[in-house]
Amino acid sequence: MRSWPAATTMSITVLGLLACSASNGASLSQGQRTPAAGAVRPTGDAASLKEAVGAPGIGDPDFPADGNGGYDVSHYSLKLSYTPANKHLAGVAAISATALHDLVRFNLDLSGLHVDGVLIDGEPAEFQRSGSELVVKPPRRIGKGEKFTTRVTYSGTPKPVRDSSNLGIYGFVPTSDGAFVVCEPNGAKTWFPSNDHPSDKATFDFELTVPEGLTALANGELVGGPVTAEGKTTFLWRERHPMVTYLATMTLGEFATRTGTTDRGLPNFAATAPRFDGQLDRVFRLSGEITDYWSTIFGPYPFSSTGGVIDDFHTGYALENQTKPMYGGFIPDESIIAHELAHQWFGNSVSIKRWKDLWLNEGFATYAEWLWSEHRGLLTAEQIFTGRLSMVDSPVWSYPPGRAKPDDLFHESVYNRGAMALHALRQRIGDAAFFTLLRTWVRDHAYGHATTDDFVALAERLSGKNLDRLFDTWLFKQGRPRWPERGDAARSRADRPGARITLPAPHAHPHGPRTAVPQPVSSPPRPEASRT
Ligand SMILES: [Zn+2]
Repeated sequence: MRSWPAATTMSITVLGLLACSASNGASLSQGQRTPAAGAVRPTGDAASLKEAVGAPGIGDPDFPADGNGGYDVSHYSLKLSYTPANKHLAGVAAISATALHDLVRFNLDLSGLHVDGVLIDGEPAEFQRSGSELVVKPPRRIGKGEKFTTRVTYSGTPKPVRDSSNLGIYGFVPTSDGAFVVCEPNGAKTWFPSNDHPSDKATFDFELTVPEGLTALANGELVGGPVTAEGKTTFLWRERHPMVTYLATMTLGEFATRTGTTDRGLPNFAATAPRFDGQLDRVFRLSGEITDYWSTIFGPYPFSSTGGVIDDFHTGYALENQTKPMYGGFIPDESIIAHELAHQWFGNSVSIKRWKDLWLNEGFATYAEWLWSEHRGLLTAEQIFTGRLSMVDSPVWSYPPGRAKPDDLFHESVYNRGAMALHALRQRIGDAAFFTLLRTWVRDHAYGHATTDDFVALAERLSGKNLDRLFDTWLFKQGRPRWPERGDAARSRADRPGARITLPAPHAHPHGPRTAVPQPVSSPPRPEASRT
């Protein structure tokens, strides 16, 4: 995710990066029972039953109600229809999962909407609602290791999340012609029942039906052409690679679309709302060009297609929805496109287990902006780093980015000081080890999860250096580091802030003539803008 820099320069954007707060700590005792559903009334040995109850949270202490315990989802099949005129969503979610222990009861996350019925492997199950929890009692005990499918039929008017103090609006956001669906950190529950936490990834099938004339977009690739009948059009999308729930989308509305491939042959898809029609070819071209470039720096692109979508609903930020970054109501500059596409490696393929490690997503994607600036012949990563280090009053010095705070998750420190941590690491271990580290990181953890400890351990192993102090200084300590430290091997380099660091891939533009940069960097880093 990245906020939209309304009037700033490429690569040194520091506008308020959005934050959210844990807000859905539902208590099971507070919910209202669905009238049509029976009470959940387990029977049997009390201790055994307690062990067989899936927890209402997946175990993230910062977001205790997010996700659920007791099972692991492998696949979501979402068959949904949406009518913008009355904002009505209806459909069926089939959730395939494996029990992690015996289950007599488990939870899904679902906010609002009316549940019409729940089936487990075809048999009716009892359920009840409790805040954003959908509590399900299977018709029989599910054994540890058993695979089962929960089919939830539901309908209603989705309501986006608006209650976070400074995140703005997210989740399923109705628009004048459809919906803009961007769910980080926990907005998937606004439109489908799920294990809504990044530590449970799954593949997805989407069968989306909308009024004829509208386009429904989702992650992955179209499976066959859209089918129109009786005034409705159905789009089938498939994301065959594991995906966290906050990256799922069903953005829909009036869109112009363009399909094709990148120069390196990867399927590429762009879509723009009518207000941004003039941007369609540019988004298509830049998304392909940047994806291809990152694949030379970070390693093979992890998914089956790339692209980008500009909708006309102004959220003020972009989100890296898997295979289809979404730009909420603004023309993205190259820097933001570079950021969101870098997330396909950092955050989408290699995902965090706990929100406190968010710098592994945002610090890396922000550092990718610096690399893109350097690639374009604008400010070098070294210059951007040095400029930021000179900002003595920056709020990043009082917020160590290695531990994202739940009430200020998307603080700019997680982005900018996180990126600085990576550059300091690059200075310390050198370019060869640093870029080997990035490639090894995305290869070793592809489609999975990783932690900050994992990254530190890999950096130390590949470099052969003890990096405790460096990471402690940049990620976990308050205060502006005295940098470079005396004796630092990279000191001579850092003393030359204009020095260009050689990337392992050729600097020459890989695909023809240089593209005009919409907002070229021509000024030195400037003081942090106020947060929005
Ligand atoms: Zn981001």
